[in-house]
Amino acid sequence: MTTLRTLLWFALIAAAMVAAVWLAERPGDVTIEWHGWRMDTSVGVLLLAVAMIAALCTTLYGVARWLRHAPGSLIGSWGEGRRRKGYRALSQGMVAVAAGDSGEAQKLARQAEKLLDEPALTLLLSAQAAQLAGDREAARRYFNEMLEDEELAFLGLRGLLMQALRDGDPTKALGYAERAFALRPDTPWVVRSLFDMQARAGKWLDAQKTLQSGLKSRLVDAERGRTLDALLLVERSRAAERSGGDMDAMENAKAAYGLAPERVPVAYRYAELLLKRDEARKATRAIEKAWAVAPHPDLAQLYLSALGEKDPVKRVQALTRLTASNPDELESHVALARECLEAKLWGEARRHLTAAGGKRPVVRVCRLMADLEEAEFADGEKVRHWLARAADAPGDRQWRCTACGAVHERWQAVCDSCGAFGTSQWRAPDPVAGEVTRDEPPGKAVIVAPAEILPPER
Ligand SMILES: [Zn+2]
Repeated sequence: MTTLRTLLWFALIAAAMVAAVWLAERPGDVTIEWHGWRMDTSVGVLLLAVAMIAALCTTLYGVARWLRHAPGSLIGSWGEGRRRKGYRALSQGMVAVAAGDSGEAQKLARQAEKLLDEPALTLLLSAQAAQLAGDREAARRYFNEMLEDEELAFLGLRGLLMQALRDGDPTKALGYAERAFALRPDTPWVVRSLFDMQARAGKWLDAQKTLQSGLKSRLVDAERGRTLDALLLVERSRAAERSGGDMDAMENAKAAYGLAPERVPVAYRYAELLLKRDEARKATRAIEKAWAVAPHPDLAQLYLSALGEKDPVKRVQALTRLTASNPDELESHVALARECLEAKLWGEARRHLTAAGGKRPVVRVCRLMADLEEAEFADGEKVRHWLARAADAPGDRQWRCTACGAVHERWQAVCDSCGAFGTSQWRAPDPVAGEVTRDEPPGKAVIVAPAEILPPER
C-alpha cells in the first residue's frame, strides 16, 4: 500500500517537472486588466497561482467537513456504548428479579437508570426491584410514574392493583382494575379480576356489564356466562327488595329463573318472591319444575310452606307429588323420609332411607336411621350403631366452593373464604373430574416477559 502511494507520488512529481520544463520552453506573457488594475505575468506563474488556490480550497473544504462530522460521530459512538451498557444492566436486572436477588436487582436498576436516558424503560425494573426488596413505598412511586407513559401505563396499573390487593385495600384495587379494563378490555386476567372485585363490592350491575364484555370477547364461555348472569340477577333482586323496589326484585328474579332454573338459589329466589306476592300456585309450579334438575332440602321446605299444609300425612303426599319428577334422587328420598318420620309412617321412612343409603349411606341418612330406630323401636343399640356409622360415613352434600373447597352452611354468592363469585355448589366432596373449576386468580408476583420491557425498534 505504502509502496504504491510512494510510486504515485514519484509519478506526480515527474509529471509536474515535465510540465514545468514544457512551460519554460514555451514562454508567454499574460496581462490581466480588471477595474483599473493591471497585472503582467508569465503563463507559468499564473498556472502555479491557480494550482495553489485550488489546493487551498480543497484543504479548507476538508477541514470544514471534518469539523462538521467528526465531533458528532465521536459523541455518537460514545452514546451508543452507554446505551448498550444501559440495556445490558436492564436485562441483567430483570434476570436478578426473576432469580429473586433483590440487592443485585436494585444495583442494576440504578445503573440502568443512570446509563439510559429513557426513564420509561427503567421504571419497571426499578419498581420490581423495590417490590422484591420489600420497599412498597418506592415500588408504588415507580408504578405511579409508569402511569404517565402511554406504553407502560397498563403495567403500572397491574403493579398498583397487585399492591392494593396485598395491602387489603379492595376499593383502590377496584379503581385500578377499572382503569386497566378501560385500557385493555380483552385481557383475561383484567376481566376476571374486575368481575370478581365488582361482585365482592356488591356492584352487581357493573359486574353484569363486565360479564357481557367478557362474553363478547369470548373470555367467558356462554354456558358459564348464563349461570353467572342468573346469579347476579338473584343478587340484584335481593338488593332491590332491601331498598323497597319490589317490582325490580320480582323482575330480576324472574329473569334469573328464565336463564338458569337448574341453580338452587335461582329457583328458590323466584319461588320465594312469588310466595311473598301470594302467588302460591305459581311458586309450587316453579319449585316442581326446579326439582327435576336442582333438588334441594330448602326447596322442599319452601314447597311445603307454599302449600301451607299442616297435616303430616298430607305433607307426605305433597312431597310425593313434588319428587315425582326425580324419584330416585337422594334428595327426594331424604325429604320424603323426614316427612314420613313426622307422620309416623315408619315403613315408608325405612324404605326411603334404605333406597337413599345404598351400600355406604351418607351422614344425613345414618342420622335419620338413628332417629327412626329411636322413634319406632327405642332400640338404643341400633341407635348407637347408626350414630357410629354417621361418624365415618362418606361426606355428604353441602354448599361447597368449587374454587377453594370451603364449606358453607348456606349458599353464598361471594365465597367468604376466597372471594370468588358464583362458585358455591350443592355437592359432595371430591368433585367428579370434568366439572367446572375456576382458573387461577391473577398471579402474586409481577413477572413481566422480557419482550414487554425491551426498547422499541430503532
Ligand atoms: Zn371459595
